[in-house]
Amino acid sequence: MNTSKRIVILGAGESGTGAAVLAKQKGFDVFLSDQGIIKEKYKSELLEHQIEYEEGQHSEAKILNADEVIKSPGIPDKAPLIKELHSRNIPVISEIEFAGRYTNAKKICITGTNGKTTTTLLIYHLLKKSGLKVGLGGNVGESFARQVATEDFEYYVLELSSFQLDGMFDFKAEVAILCNITPDHLDRYEYKIENYIASKFRVTQNQTADDFFIYCADDPLTMEHMQLVKTNAKRLPFSIKGILSEGAYKENEQLNIKYNNQEFNMYINELALVGQHNTYNSMAAAIVGQIYNLRKETIRESLQDFENAEHRLEFVAKVGGIEFINDSKATNVNSAWYALECSDAPLIWIAGGQDKGNDYALLKPLVKEKVKFIVCLGKDNRKIHEAFMNDVDMIINTTSAKEAVNVAYRFAAKGDKVLLSPACASFDLFENYEDRGRQFKKAVRDL
Ligand code: ADP
Repeated sequence: MNTSKRIVILGAGESGTGAAVLAKQKGFDVFLSDQGIIKEKYKSELLEHQIEYEEGQHSEAKILNADEVIKSPGIPDKAPLIKELHSRNIPVISEIEFAGRYTNAKKICITGTNGKTTTTLLIYHLLKKSGLKVGLGGNVGESFARQVATEDFEYYVLELSSFQLDGMFDFKAEVAILCNITPDHLDRYEYKIENYIASKFRVTQNQTADDFFIYCADDPLTMEHMQLVKTNAKRLPFSIKGILSEGAYKENEQLNIKYNNQEFNMYINELALVGQHNTYNSMAAAIVGQIYNLRKETIRESLQDFENAEHRLEFVAKVGGIEFINDSKATNVNSAWYALECSDAPLIWIAGGQDKGNDYALLKPLVKEKVKFIVCLGKDNRKIHEAFMNDVDMIINTTSAKEAVNVAYRFAAKGDKVLLSPACASFDLFENYEDRGRQFKKAVRDL
């Protein structure tokens, strides 16, 4: 029993509540505090486990006496309470760091600016199909900590955001995957890309020669930083631009994996997920399959029959010969680039929302080549107008998903494709990207 040690958890979402359950099971003195209102399902879980909690406030007297604090990734380091904890040298960790102490399972951890969820779900699908006892956690699915408390998995596939990685110190990933790095969330990193890159590379910390680091050899920021990183892990890159002696690469329209004198290959047009970005994601997953020596047939089938999560290049419907695609999860320029890249012209592009300091220059050639007109869906669309006014026939402002869909439909011709891939956050007009995607889909179905 650890009754003498006090663990305080800040934030009662999925990760915080799961961490509380695990901490309680391990015999700590546990207190959970949430400044907002806690969802009913989490309240009943806390009550069921007899965990003391508060909501609507943070009572310093009950928090600053902690031996260790587990912080929700949503709370920034610059919040006054966190600064106070740091000044008192009270360790502040993430749920993943905490739960990692109580499991011997192998942890496959995926981070990157874009592609985390897709790659995580794909690897989970592959491992599950291979008959392994595997859990899914981190930013997707159920809390990792709760699963450690209640399940007996031998593998975990964990999606890790940079905010989670910032609270990780001794945790070790047996397989670390870094999908890519492009500027995002810089407000949390003092607007310094180096800080954000360093945060992403924490996925490799503590790795030994028995572990693996899978990364994109075509990604400039990853490769730049690679020189500076000391990791003993076996490095396995993936690329669609060059042929590699080990790792994954593209040749003759095939995806090839070479590892440990073993080879695996399949045609890219057999992959369930389309687009260059998804070829990368599929490569990362296939490398994991080879590392664990899974049956080639199962790897192939998994990459063929995988169904991606909602809001990622999701086909919604064809109405009057016009196809509607929901890529609401494209909340930055890079992800929108891949959506435009893999979509056939002529396109009607619905874009905009809360700008994160976007530089649209990267998108101009694709917009010029493929986009007929742009429908802006955001409160302030000046930057989009400025960036693309010479590249498309017209740019129309709208302020709701329904209006955007109706306008797109009115001006589209048979054979056009309407793509919602905003390149921006959604918070100016919507609760979150899911809300934006669902309102878009409803508007399409109501046409
Ligand atoms: P994340 O969890 O990192 O946000 P998702 O898998 O949810 O990533 O995908 C987010 C958006 O990025 C979607 O619009 C998707 O089409 C796009 N995307 C997916 N994989 C990649 C990748 N490897 N590179 C760039 N964009 C990607």
